[in-house]
Amino acid sequence: MPLYDFHCLDCGEKFEALVLKTAPACPSCQSARLEQQISTFAVSSESTRESNLSGAKRKHAKVHRDYTNDMRNAEKNHHH
Ligand SMILES: [Zn+2]
Repeated sequence: MPLYDFHCLDCGEKFEALVLKTAPACPSCQSARLEQQISTFAVSSESTRESNLSGAKRKHAKVHRDYTNDMRNAEKNHHH
């Protein structure tokens, strides 16, 4: 669920809102002039993404090696 922290620029209200298709409005003054905060959720997902990234890199390295072998084989076949 895309839950974000917002800060209302009109009344200063701070609140969390789900961002789906429509932009949220301030629950206090209904203003749409909102500033999206960098939430703790984003920070914690950053470290999660980093650990996923190192795993993905290893996976990608293997895929790349296989791809290079395939290219070499394809080249060999091409010369025949
Ligand atoms: Zn407001």
